[in-house]
Amino acid sequence: MQIIRTIQEMQNIISQLKHSGQKIGFVPTMGYLHKAHLFLIKKSREENNVTILSIYVNPTQFNNPEDLEKYPRNFEKDEKLAKKEDVDFIFYPNNKEMYPDGMKYIDYTNSFMQGLCASTRQGHFEGVVTIVSKLFNIIQPTKTYFGQKDYQQSLIIKQMIKDLDYNIEFVMCPLIREPDGVAMSSRNAMLTKEQRNNAIVLFKSLLSARELIQNNETNTKTIKENIKNIINNIEETKIDYIELRNADTLEEIDQINEINKNNGKVVIALAVFFGNVRLIDNIIV
Ligand code: AMP
Repeated sequence: MQIIRTIQEMQNIISQLKHSGQKIGFVPTMGYLHKAHLFLIKKSREENNVTILSIYVNPTQFNNPEDLEKYPRNFEKDEKLAKKEDVDFIFYPNNKEMYPDGMKYIDYTNSFMQGLCASTRQGHFEGVVTIVSKLFNIIQPTKTYFGQKDYQQSLIIKQMIKDLDYNIEFVMCPLIREPDGVAMSSRNAMLTKEQRNNAIVLFKSLLSARELIQNNETNTKTIKENIKNIINNIEETKIDYIELRNADTLEEIDQINEINKNNGKVVIALAVFFGNVRLIDNIIV
């Protein structure tokens, strides 16, 4: 496994790999790797000849400087985990390398970049599409792997690949949970022990909402209220949003039967603060 810190060196390697017809799998991350990241890596290993993992905490997608500063990092540990998974290259650039001339955002938006996390994290997805498109330009992967945990992000990137004619196959991998049901996240490391135990409430509230739907509750307001009550019962929580949307289009829905008519699916997505730590979770019904 090689660690590559400059764009120039990464591009030289990509040229050689492309020249010899290698299939390149690419897994972009912000590091502090956990089992869900390793799942994406495994999938890439299965489906490609070469797997490139990027580790970069991208400043332009953070709407809060304190959050950026506190985001967990541990490159040595990540390096060991990646090596164990037989990653071929870690692309590990610094800010000077990625944004040398003070560039901020590319001017690209799509219809998925509204509502949900876009409403409450101003500029977040503008930063995400900027860094991901820069990484795609550098790495030119055959396939790229994203997780359902960041469901809105996945739809945005899938659409961006289409809109900007990237010749990349997009793969969305399932949401991976801890044994108790908490969605795996690097941010879980920022929780106190008590907050971490309480975080189970997110999955519990989603399961309860799913049950309501399965018992023919169709009013999304009622379902949201139910989730809200469950979460508000837990100390130190502050709801950022709870939304039920069409899982394909992310359009808002009032009545579940609008979706049922077209055999569609609903994504129930939420973001909740535990103290200062914002966690997201979702379920598709
Ligand atoms: P991050 O390092 O948090 O930016 O995540 C990098 C990639 O891993 C993204 O595509 C995430 O959606 C994915 N990912 C993170 N946590 C999970 C999870 N619990 N289940 C599935 N994918 C995840």
